[in-house]
Amino acid sequence: MRKKLVILFGMVLLALVGLILKITVINATEGEQYSKQVLMQTQQQYTSREIPSKRGDIYDRNGNILASSSKVYNVILDCKVINSEEKYVEPTVRALVDIFGADEEEVRTLLSDEKTKDSQYQILMKGVSVDDKKAFDDYTTVEEDSDLSEEEQADRQNVQGVWFEETYERNYPFKSLACDTIGFTFDADTADWGLEGYYNSTLTGTDGRQYGYFNDSSDVEQTIIEATDGQSIVSTLDVGAQSIVEKYVNAFQEAMGAENLGVIVEDPSTGEIIAMDGGDRYDLNEPRDMSSIYTDAQVEAMSDEEEVEALNSMWRNYCVTDAYEPGSVVKPIVMAAALEKGAISEDDTFTCDGYQMIGDTQIKCSAYPGAHGNQTLQEVIANSCNDAMMQIAERMGTEEFLETQTLFNLGSRTGIDLPNEGTGIMHTADTMGPTELACSAFGQGFTCTMIQEINAICSVINGGYYYQPHLVSRIEDSNGTVVREMEPTLLKQTVSSSISEDIRSYMQSSVESGTSHYSKVNGYSSGGKTGTAEKFPRGNGKYLVSFVGFAPVDDPAVVIYVVVDEPNADRQDNSAYPQYIAQGILSELLPYLDVAPDEAADGEVPQTELWEGFNGHLKDNELTGLGSIVIRYDENGIEDPEGEYDKDGNYIGPVTDTDSEDEEENTAGEEDTGEEEQGGDEDSDGTSQVDVSDDSTADGISDENVPGPLEDDSDPIEGNNAESDGVTNEEAGLE
Ligand SMILES: [Zn+2]
Repeated sequence: MRKKLVILFGMVLLALVGLILKITVINATEGEQYSKQVLMQTQQQYTSREIPSKRGDIYDRNGNILASSSKVYNVILDCKVINSEEKYVEPTVRALVDIFGADEEEVRTLLSDEKTKDSQYQILMKGVSVDDKKAFDDYTTVEEDSDLSEEEQADRQNVQGVWFEETYERNYPFKSLACDTIGFTFDADTADWGLEGYYNSTLTGTDGRQYGYFNDSSDVEQTIIEATDGQSIVSTLDVGAQSIVEKYVNAFQEAMGAENLGVIVEDPSTGEIIAMDGGDRYDLNEPRDMSSIYTDAQVEAMSDEEEVEALNSMWRNYCVTDAYEPGSVVKPIVMAAALEKGAISEDDTFTCDGYQMIGDTQIKCSAYPGAHGNQTLQEVIANSCNDAMMQIAERMGTEEFLETQTLFNLGSRTGIDLPNEGTGIMHTADTMGPTELACSAFGQGFTCTMIQEINAICSVINGGYYYQPHLVSRIEDSNGTVVREMEPTLLKQTVSSSISEDIRSYMQSSVESGTSHYSKVNGYSSGGKTGTAEKFPRGNGKYLVSFVGFAPVDDPAVVIYVVVDEPNADRQDNSAYPQYIAQGILSELLPYLDVAPDEAADGEVPQTELWEGFNGHLKDNELTGLGSIVIRYDENGIEDPEGEYDKDGNYIGPVTDTDSEDEEENTAGEEDTGEEEQGGDEDSDGTSQVDVSDDSTADGISDENVPGPLEDDSDPIEGNNAESDGVTNEEAGLE
């Protein structure tokens, strides 16, 4: 198509050159009459005018428009024409100011400045609506039977030298919703980020062109090549689900915040991404506006380079681009692989003495200086025992362990349809010694991305099917006809369905009686696994905490993965943070997706008591609230965590009988754990804190003997299908 166009364009160009030669000859002999006509034609752009194509739309799975293009106009001034007669100037300026609200001073400057006063092409305004253009056309078109006075008619007819360039404007009706995933366009057809970037060539149409030339009797003849509009894409995203995710992420960000935060919700039976939040908030209609992150003064103080870096960082999608040490959320994957390889069997037990000696190196379990004791596989997952996992990895050996990392695609791009997918850095047989092998079993010493981790877990719990994760299910042409249907792509079988079932039940006990208990959603069976990864270099108090979970247990409808990188807390090593976020999301998301509550006898969805903030560990705030999950208020609205409340959270009175507290104040996360309440207890002065060392959510431990991941000197962009090098200064709107 493009080739044809080039040939045609060449032919027309040749014809034009011929014509110009001819006109020159005529001009020389017949003078003024022709020059006027030529002038008229060029100012109307009759010679060659681009007909812009419309960029395709982006829809969510329910047909909601996430991105669309609407026709708008650029207002062009032909200053030479306007200045050609004195009587044109005032009526034209007035019409521009009255109808478009143009800046009068700007118009006058363009008409009088030496540089522009003879220009035939000055863009005065962009993005003028179809209605405003029509109002202008109506104003300047004087009907024969008009009842305007002669003076008014003359005024309107003297509006000259204004014409319009048709173009399209991209609109994002949901503004910042799913901004990291949807992406945006820099201009009509330049897009580097999100779905806009990955599907740019699909969404982009082919511009048409209108050619005009003079025939022998100097009449204009026209050839029109119509524009072909771009194709539309239907995403697997669900605006409702995305809103629920962002609601809880925003609540967390407001109360506590973190260096990075990501949430993915995936359908494990298809690989479809239902919601994805990279944690950034910016209006896709104003992608260069960083006011949600920086103050004006901060932006002002940035060098151009810093500003580009800040923009790139805001636009990149944490969920697919960043690689990090995942921590204990990989344990179900490693265990499933060990079972599949036959390195361990369901009945095996392991003894945790609090640490494991690898040669002369001591690597601790989270229970250190205590110990988990004798552990079944179920208990290993529920208690997140590192010692047992190290023993399991040792049984597998380096070669087999590396094979299983490959089997679950850890360290390789998943091929998700988003640009800038990261890889992570894995050990090889050459770099993996016994210590690296041991630590890899609990997710340290290598790095992966969020999309790799959640996709591997999907396969572990869905019966062993590894689907390619994807965000687009359908491509349609501009008439809505389906051009391509993207079926779920099954890439491989990772483990048997019976192993998958075992792991689901192990992860269920992590929610019911283990480290994942803060994630419990009333009415639904669920499984989960926490991660509390100490960041490198070890010992600096920085942690990446995470939670991966699914519900219901028998036939999981969704898998959710929440990563909180360096929470703004005094103690970062608490996986309760991502669990609270997941619990909040799932408590709304499951009913929203019409997932029947399998643990509710009457089919009604019982309300889950939610945390209402993270006041507890804000850096600059007094310590209150966190451990009790729900901050409760008495009848005067005064916070009173000690008071007695009914099941709906209504204040009954000051607590009298301490025994009833457990029943009445049973918080969602601790229900049916059958365990003593661990952590989150009120301390003597009435404030509450999570004592991480005592809390069963504390599956992380600071251990300087845990080796860091290999240096990653690879180019994260290299080899990526839809690649982007980030923006240049020009694209970022900078000089
Ligand atoms: Zn242990």
